[in-house]
Amino acid sequence: MDIPRIFNITESAHRIHNPFTADKFATLGAALRLEPGARVLDLGSGSGEMLCTWARDHGVVGTGIDMSALFTEQAQRRAVALGVDDRVTFVHGDAAGHVSDEKVDVAACVGATWIAGGVAGTIALLARSLRPGGIILVGEPYWRQLPPTEAVAKGCLAHAIADFLTLPQLLASFGQLGYDVVEMVLANQDGWDRYEAAKWLTMRRWLEAHPDDELAGEVRAQLSTEPVRYATYTREYLGWGVFALMPRLDLRPI
Ligand code: SAH
Repeated sequence: MDIPRIFNITESAHRIHNPFTADKFATLGAALRLEPGARVLDLGSGSGEMLCTWARDHGVVGTGIDMSALFTEQAQRRAVALGVDDRVTFVHGDAAGHVSDEKVDVAACVGATWIAGGVAGTIALLARSLRPGGIILVGEPYWRQLPPTEAVAKGCLAHAIADFLTLPQLLASFGQLGYDVVEMVLANQDGWDRYEAAKWLTMRRWLEAHPDDELAGEVRAQLSTEPVRYATYTREYLGWGVFALMPRLDLRPI
């Protein structure tokens, strides 16, 4: 079981597999006022940077689940490097349908909402692992500017304009699902550059090392076209953020 190999190639050198940077995860961790011993579940944990740095900086404990064997191994190595491997566990597996045995203080899916069929399904899945009073974290793209045509949405590698909402629409949608938005930290274009441009050097070096690989043609094509595509479309039109949510259900109107 694994994700398509192309991602394990292009993102092999990434510590963070989305447009967040280390300072954004630090900002988010501080914004959430995490307590030592707080329990965190991370579905689609990638190379584990969020859990590992929050374990180091805030003393959280937790589990990450990811379908990439490579990213999971990198997460385990990162935990050892940061001296937090006694607090965090990384499991290689499918996070679809995963509910933790013990309820958690923070249930997160940061940039992998397809695992439960979209934002609403992912929130519903995370809610099943959440203790009362806990916080759900969802990382998701939104349109910084609405694409003027469907072709522009495709240029952003979306299937359609309807794939994403604008930021106000996305925030409103959380309310419609019965959640308060209690915090948010947004990526910026420098963060997008770290996520996208970092793939280019990785691809170049991989091509030099694997000229005869069956994916060499695909990687060559991506390296040739991605910088201009990215600058034309994704960098201009797509935003990305992590949204902290608490269910409204337990609140009674006064
Ligand atoms: N949250 C991480 C990774 C985001 S990228 C970070 O912030 O860096 C999306 C991740 O979802 C990738 O690591 C990918 O391997 C993982 N993934 C994709 N499908 C999955 C599935 N069904 N179950 C678990 N992880 C999955």
